[in-house]
Amino acid sequence: MESKSLNQGQQFSFRELVKQILRNLGLEQVARKLRESLLGGTQSSGKSLGLSDHLSVYLQSTSLREHESLAQLRQETEQHPFGIMQTPPEEGQFIALLIQLIGAKKTLEVGVFTGYSTLAVALALPPDGKIIACDISEEDTAIARRYWQKAGVAHKIDLHLAPALSTLDRLLAEGSANTFDFAFIDADKQNYDNYYERLLQLVRPGGLIAIDNVLWAGRVADPANQEAETTAIRSLNQKIHHDSRVVISLLPIADGLTLAMKKT
Ligand code: SAM
Ligand code: CA
Repeated sequence: MESKSLNQGQQFSFRELVKQILRNLGLEQVARKLRESLLGGTQSSGKSLGLSDHLSVYLQSTSLREHESLAQLRQETEQHPFGIMQTPPEEGQFIALLIQLIGAKKTLEVGVFTGYSTLAVALALPPDGKIIACDISEEDTAIARRYWQKAGVAHKIDLHLAPALSTLDRLLAEGSANTFDFAFIDADKQNYDNYYERLLQLVRPGGLIAIDNVLWAGRVADPANQEAETTAIRSLNQKIHHDSRVVISLLPIADGLTLAMKKT
């Protein structure tokens, strides 16, 4: 078991201390599973589902054009106890391509963590582009803010530290319906349907909603799996399949990404 001793006088943050205790008790994996369940992990270990390690290395080495700040953030987040939640780089690059394809200027992000997908979007937006980013973790988004500053895109990102549903409801109450070009859903899985319904109102006709982790490491296709997160994603997948308000495609990139364009 990996172990790091606490040197005298060494400064550890509260998270470092918890991490150290869990590591020494052999509970880090248990904590990781719990956090993934509660907060929505990617379950994809930094690569796309179903790809061998070998092919994933090939894909990344022959197609990634990762901005220096994204690469540094990815490396730092890999050391985070819950780093598995980070968006894989090929997915970040794909989302950035979508942003440019649709000429997005105003976007929403539900689930920021240490800020990888938000940074990928911010770098792809034009200079006057804006992101409303929602999360509840001050500690993890402090890492995000650091990299947004470093990359020179912090002015494009408006971080709302509150349950995302309240932020989305407030935007609706303030009259922001039909004004967003793009939205990315990547937070707590049991609220996915609630986020989808709010975002369908907030994006403009022709706007795009991207929903992450829709294959949930394959568990959605296992009828015996009745875990709350799995059933939430499974029923949203079914609902979207028959939802005549959107044009859809479910892509097997990362842990599964559904694209839903609001019909004009
Ligand atoms: N998109 C991120 C990235 O690229 O690294 C990963 C997001 S991570 C899978 C899920 C995030 O959702 C966590 O940072 C967690 O704090 C946040 N979250 C969980 N419940 C939430 C809620 N009710 N409202 C807002 N954010 C929430
Ligand atoms: Ca995810």
